[in-house]
Formats: sequence, structure tokens, C-alpha cells
Amino acid sequence: MDTIAERYVRLVLALGQHDADYVDAYYGPPEWRAAAERDRMSLEQLGEAADRLIADIARVQPSNEDELVDLRRRYLSRQAEALATRIRMLEGVRLTFDEESQALYDAVAPTHPDEYFQEILDELEPRLPGDGPLVERFDAFRGDFVVPPERLSEVFDAAIAECRSRTLDHVALPAGESFTVEFVTDKSWSGYNWYQGGFRSLIQVNTDLPIHIDRAIDLACHEGYPGHHVYNALLEQHLVRERGWREFTVYALFSPQSLIAEGTANYGIEVAFSDDDRLAFERNVLFPLAGLDAARADEYYEVLALVDRLAYAGNEAARRYLDGEIDRAAAAAWLSRYAMTPPLRAEQRTRFIDQYRSYVINYNLGKDLVKQYIESRGGTSDRPDVRWREFAALLSSPRLPSGLATR
Ligand SMILES: [Zn+2]
Repeated sequence: MDTIAERYVRLVLALGQHDADYVDAYYGPPEWRAAAERDRMSLEQLGEAADRLIADIARVQPSNEDELVDLRRRYLSRQAEALATRIRMLEGVRLTFDEESQALYDAVAPTHPDEYFQEILDELEPRLPGDGPLVERFDAFRGDFVVPPERLSEVFDAAIAECRSRTLDHVALPAGESFTVEFVTDKSWSGYNWYQGGFRSLIQVNTDLPIHIDRAIDLACHEGYPGHHVYNALLEQHLVRERGWREFTVYALFSPQSLIAEGTANYGIEVAFSDDDRLAFERNVLFPLAGLDAARADEYYEVLALVDRLAYAGNEAARRYLDGEIDRAAAAAWLSRYAMTPPLRAEQRTRFIDQYRSYVINYNLGKDLVKQYIESRGGTSDRPDVRWREFAALLSSPRLPSGLATR
């Protein structure tokens, strides 16, 4: 398996020569990357090498002794299949949205008709009184909860410290783990974790658009604790360092691993904070730090909870747009109407869809699959210790999205 793992890593690095977004992180031997840059294999050569790798993995005997060893075999096989699909896509093969998400992320998002979202919008209607389209009223309402730019750093530092301490209460993190935060502009995403290896992450926060107070905890949890930073650090500690599994030194963005990564990062927010805990922390610490009216925290999070139920609207917009049913402007308009995404942010989201395509399902479907999986193993919200234990075990293992399906 170690030879197969090395071939996989080298293939991912080689594909990175054709696809700038593909290699999201790499901290394995520098000479492997140098070789990929030097050899610059063609897509055709890469496709053949991927097929040989898949065939060779299929000949490896399953392990009955150690569940992790068998998960490793299945994980490598599925990751290699996703790699072969990405090569074909770069060669010009067109897949439907659902075919693509199945091939790349090992999952298909459910579809919802417009009426499903309209019912949620009808519930929002009386919460946001006034004239004009609902999305404009929502945007105006949210305007009262923007963190002033000069306070961003302090607010984020406080959120990160709280998320870290809550995570450390339940998860043993490797000594010396840390991350740095940078504020950047002109990106299609709102936040990004670049894992560096050595238990360090660089987290970038995009300040193109106003940042609302809820982003502090969402980003601190999602990108940091117990999200991407913790996930990458635990994989490095338990799989790379303890077991010597080199395939985890590379992170192929368009692969099943991303559903686990985004799903755990989003679900991690509610693992770290119950609704009441979060409201108390927002009211007592973050709102005052941001200079916002803490008396309105409850009202703000009630409205956001409703808007959050529109999360699957983002998948619908992407599916219809990428399947060619609607154009970019119509996708942005649909997002404004059904996902409560203000026009400028909707424009940013369509750029994200152009760049990352069916990756969008990893956030909301990923969260729901991870939540169901953890809960099916007893990790319900009334049993926080079990939930944290199962969550940390998932973050430390190579489980596939299809392996999250509950029995
Ligand atoms: Zn993420």
C-alpha cells in the first residue's frame, strides 16, 4: 500500500501542473513535487497512469484486522477514481452536475423545488417588515450587524481563542499546532485554510464584502477549531506521522476528501457551541468587541436560523447553471430570490461556482451527512462527550462520504 500511496501522491502533484486549484495542500517530500514540475506529464499520460493505479489498488486484499487499514484501501481507490474523472473533465468531457458530484465527491445532493424554498421565505416575510424585495430588506437588516473593519482583527482573535479552548477541552491536539490569519481581497471565496504541514495553517479572510458578526465564530470554527485546521493536524499526527501514510501529505481539492473536510468544518460549529452557548458568547463578548448592540443578538440569530434553512438553494442554483438551464445572471438572480444572497454576494457566489463547480454540495450536504453519521453513533447534542469523541475519530480517519451513510 505504501508504494500505491506514493504513486497516488505523485499523480495528484502531476495533475496540479494542469489545474492550479487541484493541489490544495502538500507537505510531503519536496523532491516529489520537483519531479512533477520537471516531468510535466500530459493529460493522456496521467489518465493512463490513473487507470493503472486504480487497477492495482483493486488487487490489494481487504484487511479484516484493522478497520483503518481497510478504510485506507477504499479511500485510495475512491480518491484515484475522482482523480481520473478530473483528468477527463480537463480533457473536455462534460458531466451533469449530479454525475460530477458523484464522481468527484462520492455523493449527490437532493433536489428541492422552488416551493420548498418559498415556504421558508414566507416564514421570513413577517420577520423583515417593510417595502421592496425580501432580499433587500434582509440586506438592510444585516447592515446593523457588520463588524467595522478596524475591529475585525480583535473580534476574530476573540472568536478563535474561544473556539480553540472549547476544542481543547475535548480533543488532544498536537503540541505546537498554530495558525495565522491574513485579511485579503479579490477572491471568489470568503475564507480559506491553507494547510502548511507541521501542524500549521494559514487562514485567509476575504474582506471584499462587509463581514457580519456571525462570520467570526463561523470562520473561526470552520477554518480553525474544530474545522479544517484541526482536521489537517489530526490527519498529519495520526495517519502521516504515526502510521507513515504518505497519501495524507497531499490534499486533492476535487475529491471525496473535500466533502468530509467541508462537512466536518460546518458541523464543527454546532459541536463547539450549543445555540445557547453561542448566543451568550455573542452577546457578552463579540457584540461588545465589535461595538454592536448586544440586545439585538437574539433577534439577529433567529433570522439567520431561518435563512440557514435556505442552504440547499445554493446547490439548486449551481445545478441549473452548470447544467445549462439558466445563465450566470439568472443564477445570480435566483440566488438573490431563493437563497437571500444580496446581489454583490450573489455575483461572488457565481464566480465561486464557475471555479469550483459541484464542490458547492460539500458544505451543506457534507454537514448533513456528517451530522447524521455522528448522531447515528450516539453523538447527539445531549451527549456532548460522545459527540466530540466520534467527531475527533472521524477527523482522524480516511472515511469516505458514502461510508457516512447511516445503517
Ligand atoms: Zn472550508
